[in-house]
Amino acid sequence: MNSVTVRVPAKVNLQLAVGPLRDDGYHDLVNVFHAVSVFDEVTAVAETGMSVRVEGESADQVPEDGDNLAIQAAVALARHAGRSYGVSLAIRKAIPVAGGMAGGSADAAAALVACNELWGLGLPTEDLMEIAADLGSDVPFALLGGTAVGTGRGERLTPVEVGGTFHWVFALADGGLSTATVYGECDRVREADGQGVPLPRTSEALLAALRAGDARALGAELTNDLQPAALSLRESLGRTLQAGRACGALGGLVSGSGPTCAFLAESEAHATELAASLKGAGVARDVLTAYGPVPGPTVV
Ligand code: ATP
Repeated sequence: MNSVTVRVPAKVNLQLAVGPLRDDGYHDLVNVFHAVSVFDEVTAVAETGMSVRVEGESADQVPEDGDNLAIQAAVALARHAGRSYGVSLAIRKAIPVAGGMAGGSADAAAALVACNELWGLGLPTEDLMEIAADLGSDVPFALLGGTAVGTGRGERLTPVEVGGTFHWVFALADGGLSTATVYGECDRVREADGQGVPLPRTSEALLAALRAGDARALGAELTNDLQPAALSLRESLGRTLQAGRACGALGGLVSGSGPTCAFLAESEAHATELAASLKGAGVARDVLTAYGPVPGPTVV
């Protein structure tokens, strides 16, 4: 086999509870990940060296060198296998860059799956999960897909039972937000508040809404502890969230570290209507509809 293409979904966080800052600079999290039908595509072709090309949505903002997470994934996999493999990766992006939808992590997960296949390594998922956890906190979920609760830095995953399909509208913003900057702002806001930060706990009401496939109940339970920080760094997101509610979303929140905002709809038809209203309100660079949960990386 000399070419493998893998399709990989974006994620939205349904609950992102951020605990106190740890001594190692990370936060303990409860992170309910949900994979949605916005896909990047990564094609791996057998080559002597390692290289990456990026095209599509905001491709000019994605590095085409060793800083690219997909290349880092390929290098880590080759090291794990103990051989000097080569690959040329081509990434077609649809997931907004630096948008809080874990596009880089998705590409890294796709590269692991594609290179495992291309190089005929046949490594089990557990091995890929270990490599993924070293690459970044969101990469293990990107390998898993579906819906899952992440604890620790978000990398210890427990799959969640979901009783239906949920329909989403994503409002894309101009420019990205750096995840590290948003966490820093979260710590700053909390310190200024002077109140203690509780340990993060999974919302049982959210899990019940997912199990029941109840969009209305889920809409009421969406929470993101990073949202105040994202709003503080990007005031316009407040108007976007307000517009989503005014247009009839069942719930809305900043996705991860933002600046993409996610809105839950009642049905596919409602999502289409909501997307049109949000577009008309002029509060987003672009608007996408999607559904979830969807499976993780898939060879196509
Ligand atoms: P998260 O939701 O995990 O916090 P994000 O969706 O906000 O992440 P990404 O799209 O993953 O952000 O990009 C974050 C940064 O990582 C970008 O600014 C980009 O320079 C860099 N990056 C490296 N590799 C990639 C990649 N394959 N795709 C996108 N960004 C990448």
